[in-house]
Amino acid sequence: MATPTQEARTLDSGLDSILSFCRDVAQDMEFPEVQNWLAQQPGRKAIGCFPIYCPVELIHAAGMLPVGVIGGGNEIEIAHADSRFQSFVCSIVKSTLELGLTKRIEFLDGMLFHSICDPARNLASVFARNFPKLYVDYIHFPQNLVSPLGKQYLAREYHRVLEGLSRLAGRPVTSDDLNASIALYNRIRRIQEELYTLRAASPHLISAAETFSLIRAGTLMPPERYVGLLEQVLAEVPQRPVRPKDRIRVIVEGSFCEMPPVALIEGLEEAGCYILDDDFLRGWRWFTTDVPIQDDPLEALADSYADRSYFSGVKHDLRESKSAHLIRNAHARKADAVIILAAKFCEPALFDYALYRKALDDANVPHLFLEFEEKMWIFDRARSQVETFVESMLFE
Ligand code: SF4
Repeated sequence: MATPTQEARTLDSGLDSILSFCRDVAQDMEFPEVQNWLAQQPGRKAIGCFPIYCPVELIHAAGMLPVGVIGGGNEIEIAHADSRFQSFVCSIVKSTLELGLTKRIEFLDGMLFHSICDPARNLASVFARNFPKLYVDYIHFPQNLVSPLGKQYLAREYHRVLEGLSRLAGRPVTSDDLNASIALYNRIRRIQEELYTLRAASPHLISAAETFSLIRAGTLMPPERYVGLLEQVLAEVPQRPVRPKDRIRVIVEGSFCEMPPVALIEGLEEAGCYILDDDFLRGWRWFTTDVPIQDDPLEALADSYADRSYFSGVKHDLRESKSAHLIRNAHARKADAVIILAAKFCEPALFDYALYRKALDDANVPHLFLEFEEKMWIFDRARSQVETFVESMLFE
């Protein structure tokens, strides 16, 4: 059973207080909000969700708490996990295993992984072998999003996963349970979308680093508590007394799974960029419109995955090329440039970059490629690269 690491933190009202709270929650690898939720509700369970997209509604509808297990950032040292993986594997895979081996996520009852890449697949197997008491499942997403069979398959896959979660929770899960969870997460995603729209129009009002911590904190606390914080942030951001600065307007792409350190995001902004849009934590704000509330909620989730979800480096949608989508987004946001910010050794992101680079050159969109890893502490090199890039654009 979990023990509370601290009293559930009460918040002064006010935007700055909420943003500071979310930053603390996002960086605390003791998971205080989850630990408190578990301690206050003995018998309830928490399930870890590896990136990128996890159908959190299935977990929530079963009465359990979905928790974003998205690596350790630069908050933990890798002391044990290196011995389980090759040196050329991305950081998130190692730091997620390190969280397990150091018992930091011992409070979890299960972990869900997904078919995004070979390292993620291997990590699921390594978890199953190293933590035999943990419930581990692996969701296979369809590759063909156009065929009706792909959606039918995914609805059946969700049904299989739901049966497992229901057994673990020790209770049946009804369509009403699922629709209530879908409605709650729709509300959260809608507010997050509104915040992104607001930031794209007035990027001086809320930074990308603040938005990142705000979204990340939402993966680490009960959604019922989180939605109130989000609503307050959305109400207060437009009144913030902040003046615009002379910066270039960029789109950041390529960090859909492993997350860059928040100090790196701040460094990009301080080097002279307004980040209008990004794919940080994309899996937690996955749908472009609400998931419909209908008699068959699993079908609604499967259809939404195929037809109403954001493009991503690990979703293969042949209806629009990834590069065409990126350029269309850059034009729609009136961006001056694109920064490709990719995790070191992330093959999906690096494959995409080859396509992006040609398409951005052909479309005359200035671009910069940066690589990061979780254990980065010093960002001088990245920052000076961005400063040079910004100066070349401002003074050309
Ligand atoms: S960072 Fe890239 S390679 Fe690593 S698990 Fe995520 S998608 Fe796979």
